[in-house]
Amino acid sequence: MSALTELYQEVENCRDCELAGYRTRVVPGEGPEDAELLFIGEAPGWYEDQQGRPFVGPAGAFLNHLLDLISLTRSQIYIANVIKCRPPQNRDPLPAEIQACHKWLDRQIDIIHPRMIITLGRYSLARYFPNETISKVHGRARKIGDTICYPMYHPAAALHQGALRQTIEDDMLRIPQLLAQNETIAVAEIEPEPQQLDLF
Ligand code: URA
Repeated sequence: MSALTELYQEVENCRDCELAGYRTRVVPGEGPEDAELLFIGEAPGWYEDQQGRPFVGPAGAFLNHLLDLISLTRSQIYIANVIKCRPPQNRDPLPAEIQACHKWLDRQIDIIHPRMIITLGRYSLARYFPNETISKVHGRARKIGDTICYPMYHPAAALHQGALRQTIEDDMLRIPQLLAQNETIAVAEIEPEPQQLDLF
């Protein structure tokens, strides 16, 4: 059994926070174990909860469009969320839920060991740069260990604020160039929180 399949079985049985009592399906994440790019969203919404797959609703449709801009398909990338179960009424995840779910994403990152982690929105940004705001750091790549960390707005932001659509597309279009320039990307000036140093 592959390491990811084993992990999916464990996540499906997880009852480490109260979201386990609300979910229809767990949404662990999907994509190849050797993906170079790992996208991290926030939490499953209604569609994801129904299907057990990440980004299959309207935000997912926009993410597919963004991938298309750089000639990538979903089958080539890995997509996960900070939280693996849908919060009721799509409310924001609570700190205790984020903490309880942290270990799963840690393990996914260990297994996949991507070249680039693209954080989508403020919850996955906070995992790496807890004191930064998305409006300030989106589109700015920094190295943490040997991985490029690249913050972007959440795709759903474009659905709520049309003016952000172009910004998100422009940030996405820079990814191929960043991968090519890997060696010249600055190491993060802001150290991640100590508990996050074990991510790589
Ligand atoms: N938004 C997310 O952050 N993740 C999903 O899987 C779907 C919508």
